[in-house]
Amino acid sequence: MVTCLQARAVFLGAPGAGKGTQAKRLAEVAQAVHISTGDMLRGHVAQATQLGVQAKSYMDAGKLVPDELIIAMVEARIAQPDARSAWILDGFPRTLPQAEALDRSLGGAPDRRLTHVIYFAVPESVLVGRLSGRRTCGRCGAIWHVETQPTKKAGVCDTCSGELTQRSDDRPEAISKRLEVYRAQTEPLLGYYRKRNTLREIDANRSPETIFQELAKLMQ
Ligand code: AMP
Repeated sequence: MVTCLQARAVFLGAPGAGKGTQAKRLAEVAQAVHISTGDMLRGHVAQATQLGVQAKSYMDAGKLVPDELIIAMVEARIAQPDARSAWILDGFPRTLPQAEALDRSLGGAPDRRLTHVIYFAVPESVLVGRLSGRRTCGRCGAIWHVETQPTKKAGVCDTCSGELTQRSDDRPEAISKRLEVYRAQTEPLLGYYRKRNTLREIDANRSPETIFQELAKLMQ
């Protein structure tokens, strides 16, 4: 059993590194709130909120949504009552200004600082295959893969029979843009957290189960 009741964790890694899958599972067993900025934004796009309308064109092109929009969204989320004890940030921060804003909003007190920063390391050649074959259930959010984790019936979720779709930013042009953006804007965060001695690295080019076991140990 994983216990991370006071965790304030950041999961870092390229698109397709498996942060979301691991964060979702860990949050369930450790009773932490899983905060995925990508999922939040997709929710805004689906509901056509003002933020969703602003964010959509950036997302479809594989670019980052402007810092000020994302920072305000995350600050509001971690201020909610359910995030008072433990949370896992998946997909945020993605730029240095976002990391600095997070530090500022947490403040310097030891009981408010980040407790874990985990980097999911995967070679880029593997990422492209993972992203291009990824399919998501529109009903329950389960994530499948056409080759490595296929459903029994193509296009239909094994868990809830919902329809599987490919994210618009998992198409080839957007994938290469997202990886380029990751290298330029997000990779520098590894140095930022290494300097603070908070970064822990996981070899995420292994089975989800093996990664989860290692992650659970790191989070204890
Ligand atoms: P993800 O599901 O984490 O891969 O995010 C999907 C898309 O949402 C990204 O390609 C960005 O367009 C946008 N997004 C998610 N998180 C952030 C963030 N922290 N900063 C800027 N854009 C983001």
